[in-house]
Amino acid sequence: MSTTTMAEKASQKLYDEVIMSGLCTLCGACLGACPYFKVNPRRGKIRRIDICDRDEGQCYQYCPRTYTDVDAIYRKIFGVPYGEDEIGVGVIKDAFLARTTDSDIQSKAQDGGSVTTLLLAALQAGMVDAVIETKMSADKSPGGFIARNKEELLSCAGNSYESGATLETLNSVPPDSQEKLAIVGLPCQIAAVAKMKAEPPRNRFNIDNVKLVVGLFCGWALTPGSFHEFLEQNYDLSQIVKFDIPHHPGHTFDLYMKSGKKEEIEIEDVRQFINESCSYCCDMTAQFADVSVGSGRAAFRGWNTVIVRTEAGAKVVELAKKKGALETQPIPPENLVHLKKSAINKMKTNIQNLMKLSGSEQDLRYLGIKNQILDKILQD
Ligand SMILES: Cc1cc2nc3c(=O)[nH]c(=O)nc-3n(C[C@H](O)[C@H](O)[C@H](O)COP(=O)(O)OP(=O)(O)OC[C@H]3O[C@@H](n4cnc5c(N)ncnc54)[C@H](O)[C@@H]3O)c2cc1C
Ligand code: SF4
Ligand code: SF4
Repeated sequence: MSTTTMAEKASQKLYDEVIMSGLCTLCGACLGACPYFKVNPRRGKIRRIDICDRDEGQCYQYCPRTYTDVDAIYRKIFGVPYGEDEIGVGVIKDAFLARTTDSDIQSKAQDGGSVTTLLLAALQAGMVDAVIETKMSADKSPGGFIARNKEELLSCAGNSYESGATLETLNSVPPDSQEKLAIVGLPCQIAAVAKMKAEPPRNRFNIDNVKLVVGLFCGWALTPGSFHEFLEQNYDLSQIVKFDIPHHPGHTFDLYMKSGKKEEIEIEDVRQFINESCSYCCDMTAQFADVSVGSGRAAFRGWNTVIVRTEAGAKVVELAKKKGALETQPIPPENLVHLKKSAINKMKTNIQNLMKLSGSEQDLRYLGIKNQILDKILQD
């Protein structure tokens, strides 16, 4: 296993080790921080527009696909080492099923609307002043957006299944801003934020102002370039109101149209557009978040699975429940067992993919975990 720390290196290294190696998740953490990288939405890739001659760079340091010391991050965020109990779904202070009681949120949300409900509770209680979210543009491309009220939160509800460079928006926050922030993201985006929490960025926004991190569960995301082209060729994008995969993993990828019609695409026809980097991803439940949210699964469609990991996570859940905005029920133990099994399977498969990529069982590229944990995952 590599022994470097969360090092700062030149953008050339980021380009070679991450972008050109198929590891880039398009999280956006290197964008805005560095003038030399831009996203190329048409190709679904980060584009380097010039050569940087610096031999260090925060673009490299906070990329979730450069060396990430999982144990160091766990100690920083949760005050515990990354031990065997944490393999799979990570730290669990509490876990339950939840859904919103707010009809405006219900009508826009992806599943149970718990994410939007928690964010609204945090804004209304003054726990945060603004939320960095992912919003789809009129042509359904995802991008970062700062929401400061209910209407703006509602405009971000629902999933884009494409990777969006949302963290570019975090990098756009001025260094002297005092606004308290929440951020919502996919596990790879939350990993970049966790690296910033572990080693705060210099001369940029104040990472201590990020008071709440909400992570989404994630199996995979689609490449904006090729998937978007496919959608454009086959559908009128302006008519789509919602994307959904009814069961994770499901058999169809559904498009809900303004007319009320539902278009079903065979999931196998969509898989070809999965971002290559997702086959190297070892986090299904956003393990570094304060609170992680996924779909309720088959019997609990319209509900969310919620995992509370930190004090901040517990606080926002309490705020939402106190207002009567969030309805909860216990999670069946077998659901948690299934979730943990799926998460470990994802880790195992993708660690093997990382070994194939590097050509060595000792080199997991970005993933810094202890050998004893690695052995446990591979044996399971
Ligand atoms: C690409 C992707 C893959 C997923 N895979 C799984 C899975 O395998 N299993 C599972 O249980 N759940 C998965 N989820 C999570 C699930 O689909 C719901 O997002 C989650 O249950 C929250 O539902 P909600 O009704 O509370 O969300 P809402 O209240 O509707 O809020 C949705 C939130 O998601 C954010 N968002 C939307 N699109 C993106 C995006 N592309 N990138 C980052 N943030 C985004 C929005 O900013 C908003 O804050 C996935 C989500 C995405 C985006
Ligand atoms: S994974 Fe994120 S930070 Fe790393 S190169 Fe890709 S967009 Fe940049
Ligand atoms: S599978 Fe991993 S790398 Fe891919 S979008 Fe989800 S969190 Fe990011």
